[in-house]
Amino acid sequence: MKIEYTTSTIITSAVKAPDTSILIIYTGGTLGMVHNENGVLIPFDFSLIMDHIPSLRQLELNITVLSFQTPIDSSNVNPQHWREIGEKIYTNYDKYDGFVVLHGTDTMAFSASAISFMLENLQKPVIFTGAQLPISSSRSDARENLITALEIASTKINKKPVVPEVAIYFDSVLLRGNRSKKVESQQFDAFESENYPMLAESGVDINYNHKFIHRTEQKKDLIFHGSFDTNIVVLKLFPGISKEAVEGIINIPNLRGIVLETYGSGNAPTHDWFLTPLKKAIEKGIIILNVSQCPGGKVDQGRYETSEGLHAMGVIGGSDLTIEAAVTKLMIVLAEEKNIENIKSRMIESICGEMSIN
Ligand code: ASP
Repeated sequence: MKIEYTTSTIITSAVKAPDTSILIIYTGGTLGMVHNENGVLIPFDFSLIMDHIPSLRQLELNITVLSFQTPIDSSNVNPQHWREIGEKIYTNYDKYDGFVVLHGTDTMAFSASAISFMLENLQKPVIFTGAQLPISSSRSDARENLITALEIASTKINKKPVVPEVAIYFDSVLLRGNRSKKVESQQFDAFESENYPMLAESGVDINYNHKFIHRTEQKKDLIFHGSFDTNIVVLKLFPGISKEAVEGIINIPNLRGIVLETYGSGNAPTHDWFLTPLKKAIEKGIIILNVSQCPGGKVDQGRYETSEGLHAMGVIGGSDLTIEAAVTKLMIVLAEEKNIENIKSRMIESICGEMSIN
């Protein structure tokens, strides 16, 4: 799959040449929709952004926009899109001070998580945003979300970017990308990060929570990770799940990883019909990662009897990983490692702040 782009350059300052450059990657989603003369929503031509957001002029930025020639609803996003977005940031890394990715909200937390793992040693802002209402709508949240995302992506203190990590800005809050989750489809406050404090909050000022912002040690080169192994599955538990369903999933051909969505602090049924197939899967070399269905708290295998069996057979405890971070991290680690012990040790390490380590 090759994605075609259209490029437009927008210099927002009317007064003097701006000294900060931002690359916007526009992928699609609700934000970029406008009503045509028949009232139908169609993708927006980004070169006309100043008509929709005249206050962009006050930012004094040199903006380049790379637009997917065919913008997509984020329900159609797949790892090839992550590779494309990541590659665009990687190859343009030195040319820009920061990056803003405009993306549909439905899978934004997956994409932000993936990009955070793909760009090792990132030292510049990569801010994802989108909107609940299209930019052409009078009450749209697109304008505020985009302007503030641009401001965050371009803010420096002592010549250093304030947010040198992958984050999602939405409805006044800046959240770590790989800690975020879409939690709302009707109201404007679409994202939450239950297990990690917000990185900033915007009101009259943007107040940064500096001590929670991830920083990579200086003088490390950016390393690009662009491969994903999609031979994984999410097995979400529910009372009444059948032996056939569990066995069917475990027997998927070429399966290499299972993200097991358990109850509470990592608990699961203790019946033999449930534990035995999982144990056999592990013996075959399938990685099983335990993440909780609870948005808050973390997996603590062995705390209850109902998670002791999982721990004993070698299921990896996923601490407080979100499902979005678990899926994307597992795909990348499986693509890069064949050795089970290496996979395990990378999965229990926090790569860029995605999980709490005891
Ligand atoms: N379905 C849209 C998408 O994720 C929703 C949105 O943009 O908010 O692309």
